[in-house]
Amino acid sequence: MCGIVGYLGNKKACPILVNGLKKLEYRGYDSAGICVLEKNTLAVKKDKGRVKNLETLDGINSLEGTLGIAHTRWATHGKPSKDNAHPHMDNSKTFAVVHNGIIENFKELREFLGNNNYKFYSETDSEVIPNLIHYYYSKGNNFIKSVNLACKDLKGSYALEIICKNEPDTLIVTRKDSPLVIGTSENGTYISSDIPALIAYTNNFCFLNDTELALITKNNIEFFDCNLNSINKEFSNVELSAESCDKGNFEDYMLKEIYEQPNSIRETIGNTLNGEKIVFDTLQLSKKYLSTIKQIYIVACGTAMHAGLGVKPNFEKFCNIPVCVDIASEFRYRNPLIDENTLCIYISQSGETADTIAALKLAKSKGAKTIAVTNVIESSITREADYFVYTHAGPEIAVASTKAYTSQLVLLNIMALYFAEILETISKEEINKLKKEILLLSKKVDEILKNTDKIKRLAKQIYNKRDVFFIGRGLDHTVALESALKLKEISYIHSEAYAAGELKHGPIALIEKNVPVISIVTNPDLADKTISNIQEVITRGATSIVITNQNINESNFDFVYKIPETLEYYTPIISVIPLQILAYYVTKEKGLDVDKPRNLAKSVTVE
Ligand code: GLU
Repeated sequence: MCGIVGYLGNKKACPILVNGLKKLEYRGYDSAGICVLEKNTLAVKKDKGRVKNLETLDGINSLEGTLGIAHTRWATHGKPSKDNAHPHMDNSKTFAVVHNGIIENFKELREFLGNNNYKFYSETDSEVIPNLIHYYYSKGNNFIKSVNLACKDLKGSYALEIICKNEPDTLIVTRKDSPLVIGTSENGTYISSDIPALIAYTNNFCFLNDTELALITKNNIEFFDCNLNSINKEFSNVELSAESCDKGNFEDYMLKEIYEQPNSIRETIGNTLNGEKIVFDTLQLSKKYLSTIKQIYIVACGTAMHAGLGVKPNFEKFCNIPVCVDIASEFRYRNPLIDENTLCIYISQSGETADTIAALKLAKSKGAKTIAVTNVIESSITREADYFVYTHAGPEIAVASTKAYTSQLVLLNIMALYFAEILETISKEEINKLKKEILLLSKKVDEILKNTDKIKRLAKQIYNKRDVFFIGRGLDHTVALESALKLKEISYIHSEAYAAGELKHGPIALIEKNVPVISIVTNPDLADKTISNIQEVITRGATSIVITNQNINESNFDFVYKIPETLEYYTPIISVIPLQILAYYVTKEKGLDVDKPRNLAKSVTVE
């Protein structure tokens, strides 16, 4: 998780590092620290807490050096504290290191280093790294060779920036299973975990592959493979505007991203559904190949998994292929029955989700073809998958996903139609009708966003509740799951989602007077059934809140919010919007930090 930033150039490093950390805070925010090379010493400033605390640390503003590294932490080993914050140094204070990831064999390495008289001052797994580098350096290896040898000893995941007090104009970076990008401009070289932190400085980026190293000096960058053979790497222009990474006039990123949805959905559509034609430049799937597919797996975590659930019946209906949706952390350890007749689709907003990438590698090893669906250009998952497709939702900074989810739903629905078109499993007329409706979705989302007063009032009524339940049937159940996740992750209200028909098999025991039960009712064939379930909770005293596009008798319920109609397949893209807004305003009523909820981080790069 965590964010790392680095700089070597002709400007003062400290403001660039701090500014970069602020942009990356969504990745982790329990501690922050920087190290700047000041003449011949490594000056470290770090503490627990947010980046704004870092800015107030003694002496930080007088750092003059033009080479530095920085870190905002999401603790995995050791509590958030000053000692555990990064950068970490070796005992002789020759090297400073920031690390994103987990060193799985840190205990063995600590023991080895302990036997060689190294001492440890933190509880982190990361502190072994600078000491291991020092160990090799003290044996006469040069800087990069010492880093390379140390990396060979590491098991687990890492993105690393390393500076050495004896090498005034040198920064070494490397990565394995954790993200890292390098950007350049005439003012120097910039490093970050993610492009948005650097977009104010450059559009020119290079992405390291696993185990590659970059040796960055004032006027040059050299790239090496894991055996220190020199390699060539290309820089490419990434079109992303600075505004797309800013809050603009919005109070929070999450609100901005909710309101961006009409546009992000348009972008997703625009890149794939061109007039009446579906184009997936990066998918080369022939009719011959698709006809051999006996099952599709959609694998993801959290909100992305809910997007998978939200398209499963559509893939099945349009393509006539059974679809399993699985949680990546389960899939990867349960030896799923897949082979070359299985197509596996992996969804990850960041493209760095450790469990999803591991699950993808597993499917590949079993001979299945893999497609990655991600929002982040050049993210790790695009390098692992056979094929990848970008959602083009634009940078999503708030930890709680909103626009990435709706774009995933839109993109996967278009992909289902694309397969159906190739396989000829539904008629041309039907496909055209389905395509036409997709083109209307962003307008319908916009209608909801212009009509939020009622939802804001509802937020005031329920923000102090202890429990909230969400129910629905079919696709409405998938939205219930996503909405319950949204509410709990940012407002900390206990919220649960159930398939409406399951209530009486246990959960209804939890319903008591004034407990809000939010029902999603959009499927005409299932509406009466769900309404009977709502009646059952009303009888037990629940406050009934209904999100619907059906003609229901509104006076039977405490609160009804009407959403625009759409084809049944696409209802999740519409019905989730008022529930995202509800989660947002409930959290604001509670006075909590919407964008940075406790214990969470945006890009889950650890398993
Ligand atoms: N495992 C390291 C730690 O707990 C790094 C965590 C991170 O990626 O922020 O300090």
